[in-house]
Amino acid sequence: MPSISIPTALRQYAGGQASVNVEAAHIGDALAKLTAQFPDLQKHLFDVSGKLRSFVNVYVNDEDIRYLQKEDTAIKDGDEISIIPSIAGGSGCAVEEAPVEAKSAELPELNKDELARYSRHLILPEVGMEGQRKLKAASVLLIGAGGLGSPLGLYLAAAGVGRLGLVDFDVVDHSNLQRQVLHGTKDVGRKKLASAKDRIADINPHVQIDTYELALRSENALGIAKDYDIIIDGTDNFQTRYLANDASVLLGKPNVYGSIFRFEGQASVFHPKAGGPCYRCLYPEPPPPGLVPSCAEGGVLGILPGVIGMIQATEAVKLILGEGEPLIGRLLLFDALKMKFRELKLRRNPECPLCGDNPTIKQLIDYDQFCGVTPQPATEVSDWEITPLQLKQRLDSGERVTIIDVREPHEWQIANLENYGSRLIPLGQFANRIGEINPDDDIVVHCKMGGRSAKAYDALKKAGFTKIKNLKGGILAWADQVDRTMQKY
Ligand SMILES: [Zn+2]
Repeated sequence: MPSISIPTALRQYAGGQASVNVEAAHIGDALAKLTAQFPDLQKHLFDVSGKLRSFVNVYVNDEDIRYLQKEDTAIKDGDEISIIPSIAGGSGCAVEEAPVEAKSAELPELNKDELARYSRHLILPEVGMEGQRKLKAASVLLIGAGGLGSPLGLYLAAAGVGRLGLVDFDVVDHSNLQRQVLHGTKDVGRKKLASAKDRIADINPHVQIDTYELALRSENALGIAKDYDIIIDGTDNFQTRYLANDASVLLGKPNVYGSIFRFEGQASVFHPKAGGPCYRCLYPEPPPPGLVPSCAEGGVLGILPGVIGMIQATEAVKLILGEGEPLIGRLLLFDALKMKFRELKLRRNPECPLCGDNPTIKQLIDYDQFCGVTPQPATEVSDWEITPLQLKQRLDSGERVTIIDVREPHEWQIANLENYGSRLIPLGQFANRIGEINPDDDIVVHCKMGGRSAKAYDALKKAGFTKIKNLKGGILAWADQVDRTMQKY
C-alpha cells in the first residue's frame, strides 16, 4: 500500500503517527481516506471549499503533485506520499549564471597571518588562493544570531568570509544555551549581538562584523540586505522568513534557507535569478495564524540547528566559490530521529506572486500576527483578557476561578498553576474535550504567552461560553509579575 508520511507538526491530528498506509489509486483518494480516518486533519489540509491549502504541498516520492496531475496523480504500491506544510519555522536545476559574481579583478590580497590561517583551504584545489580571496571579498547577511545563526556565524567566520552582517535584537537567555553555541553562560543577559561579535572576533579577527540591532521590517529589510552578496535566513518566524525571501528576490540575491522543528529540518537555496524557485514558489503565502502549530508549542533538539546551520554555511561558501552543485531547486529534508536525508524537487512556479512571470508582489509585506500573538503595549488590556495581577487578586479574594491550561504536558511539567486548581487540556484536544468544562464557571484560559489560549478562548466563545478571560502574556507573564520563583522556559 502507498504510505503517507505525516510531518511532525500535523502528527497531533493523526493520532501521533509518523506514517499512515492507505489503499488508494490516486492522491485525491488517498487524502480523502486519510482525513476520513483522522477528521482533525481536514481543516489543516483543505480550505472550506475542499481545495488543498496553499501552504500545504503534497509530494509523490520526490515530485510535487502540482507538476504532476495534481490530485489526480496516480499512486501505486510502495510510493511515498509526503505532506510538507510550511513551518516557521523549509534537482539538477540548471544554474544559468554563477550565483555570486566573482570579483576576481579586485580581489583583496591575503596577509601573512591569513595565509597561515587558511593553509588547509589554500591546498584544496576547489578553494586555493583565488577562492580564499573570493571568501575575503564576500559579504553575508545572517538574519538571526540564535540556533541557526550560531553555527553559521562560527563557521563562516572561521572559513574567512570577509564581512558578516548580523541582525538580531534578542538578549541571551539561559534557555538559549542548549543550542545557541555562539553564546556562553557568561553571556546570559547580554545582547546576542554583543556576545556574537566577541566570539566571532575571537575566532577570526580578520572578519568585519556589522551588527543591526533591530527586528527586520518591510521598511528596513531592503536597505540592510542590499549591501550583501548572500542572505541567510536563520529565523524562526514567518514574518521574517517572508521578508528575507522577498528582499532577496527583489534584490536578485541568493537566499540560503534553513528551518527547524523538533527533530526535523529543511534547507534549500532560493535564487530565481539563477533559474531556481523562491520560498513563495513553494508557499505563496503564510498560513493564517492558528492553522499551523505556534512557535511556542515546538521545542527543538539542540543539535538540530547545528546540522541545518552547517548545511547553510556549506551552501554559502559554495556559492561564493562558485564550486559544486548548489541546493537550488532542491529541498533537503532531514529527520534526526531516523537519521535520514531526503530530497524533493523544487521548481520555479511561473505563477509565483513574487518571482513568477506576472508578479503581483513588488514591495515588502509585514505579516504581524504569527504565533497568534499580536504585539501590544503591556499597559493595554482588552476586555477579553485578564492580567496575571488581576487573576491573582481574584484568587486571593477567594473567588472561584476555573483555570484551563492549554499547553502541552511537557510544558506543564516545567511550570504550572496546579496550586490554583489549574487543569491541563492541550489545545490539540480542546475541541474534543470542551464538554469537560462547565459553562457556568468563571473560566480563565492560559498558555505560555497567550497565543494558543486565544484560540481556546475563541473555541469556548463559539461553543456559547460567556464567562471567559484569556490570561494576558500567559504563564511567562505570571512568572514575571506574580511568582518570580516560577521556572521560565
Ligand atoms: Zn517564487
